[in-house]
Amino acid sequence: MNERILRELELADVVALVQGDRPVTSHAPETHSPSPSASSMSWAELREVVSTCVICGLCRGRKQAVFGVGAEAGPWLFVGEGPGADEDEQGEPFVGQAGKLLDSMLAAAGLQRGRDTYIANVVKCRPPGNRTPTLDEAAACGPYLDRQIDLVAPKVIVALGKTAATRLLGAEPASLGSLRGKVHDYRGRPVVVTYHPAYLLRNLPDKAKAWEDLLFARRVFAG
Ligand code: URA
Ligand code: SF4
Repeated sequence: MNERILRELELADVVALVQGDRPVTSHAPETHSPSPSASSMSWAELREVVSTCVICGLCRGRKQAVFGVGAEAGPWLFVGEGPGADEDEQGEPFVGQAGKLLDSMLAAAGLQRGRDTYIANVVKCRPPGNRTPTLDEAAACGPYLDRQIDLVAPKVIVALGKTAATRLLGAEPASLGSLRGKVHDYRGRPVVVTYHPAYLLRNLPDKAKAWEDLLFARRVFAG
């Protein structure tokens, strides 16, 4: 490859070319659209594309992409941050300690994983060392979450924690608390914001607030 061509390629393309893992023409553009047609994919197509996605750097640290789980036309949609070690291992969101807490909160609200709920994350691949995904990574993975939201068509979306709230509301909040108790909107659907279950495990007194938020979400759900 001559030098001029090399200069014109982005570093990521060169790496991809050398590794042979994707064609040069498919690098992520600034819009981070993983595919022009994610917005029209079926569940099966979307799942397939996500499982082999290399659009952002998080693909390098994953064992597997963690797509999402639950009722594909669930009236409730819960959005977390990204897979941790357990999720990366098992391929399902919220199966570790935070997931157990989420399940018990769902049960207390009369909900059940897989029955009335769909659970997804902002990013589908585990960030190294469980760090918070960057805004770029969240944006790169965004069209997949958007398509999940459109397919699930939930009556209410519950954003679990700051990463989900930032992704869905489009701006980083000063504090998560300032977003609670309000009905926000994403893609024409009501969004309620609450604490992330992993945060609640470290701050048990705030569990009562998360419970208030779930009750609030239930009222939003009931219209
Ligand atoms: N935390 C998340 O945000 N998502 C998971 O799937 C697990 C833990
Ligand atoms: Fe693709 Fe999302 Fe995984 Fe990044 S996090 S590689 S955009 S599936």
